[in-house]
Amino acid sequence: MTASYIFSPKGLSALAHFVTPDTLFAFDLDGTLAPIVEDYAAVEISEPVRATLGRLVKIAKVAVITGRSRQDALAILGFEPHVLVGSHGAEWPVREGRLNSQQSQQSADCLIWREKLFNLLSNIPGVEIEFKGESLSLHYRKADDAEATLLLIDAAIDTLIPEPRRIGGKYVVNLVPMKALTKGDALIAAMEMFEAQRAIFIGDDVTDEEVFKLNNANIFGIHIGKDDQTAARYYLKKQSALLGLLNSMVGILESYKPLEMGALP
Ligand SMILES: [Mg+2]
Repeated sequence: MTASYIFSPKGLSALAHFVTPDTLFAFDLDGTLAPIVEDYAAVEISEPVRATLGRLVKIAKVAVITGRSRQDALAILGFEPHVLVGSHGAEWPVREGRLNSQQSQQSADCLIWREKLFNLLSNIPGVEIEFKGESLSLHYRKADDAEATLLLIDAAIDTLIPEPRRIGGKYVVNLVPMKALTKGDALIAAMEMFEAQRAIFIGDDVTDEEVFKLNNANIFGIHIGKDDQTAARYYLKKQSALLGLLNSMVGILESYKPLEMGALP
């Protein structure tokens, strides 16, 4: 099934049915709320997008599910979503106690991996090891020979015990514990947490497909960029079009009677 353009008549009418006061609005961060930049530490959300998100969090439940650590993401967001999940679905706020014991096992695995990878890779030029508590990212964008560097990274990963789940990206390999929640699991958990009947999820990368391929009738998936490979039902042409989409959604929500909005938990 190919994705349909969200700003087509069909897309807009489907969207309007999904935008209600009890919809959970969920977003990826890099490439979705913020444009991709060469230096992943320099990513920024534009002021208009941030302002519109600020309106959205006041009238609806908002989730951000990112590959970054929560701490890192929070600094970039500049606003507090109702839930912020880091490390591709693996890192939850500490107060969500039911996930705690699993999370501490995951952290312990990541610490072991970090030490091993540091020993094997710290002398390889252009490789950066980013430790995120519940996951690890191996960046190699700065390597002169990306292909050869990736082979070395792969060989190092093959030595890790317990075996991690690998998530590829653009010049990055992410490692998460096998048992960690995926972004798809994380969105379902967030919907349960807020008792949301439906969710809208917008994302752009491989890990976001974990949400799209759930093929859940209550989740409205929007992929950033036209892509024949995505399992999302709708797409936005580019990241810069997000602002228009956010404004449409906020406009629909603000048209609900204040009484109905007052009924939000
Ligand atoms: Mg992304």
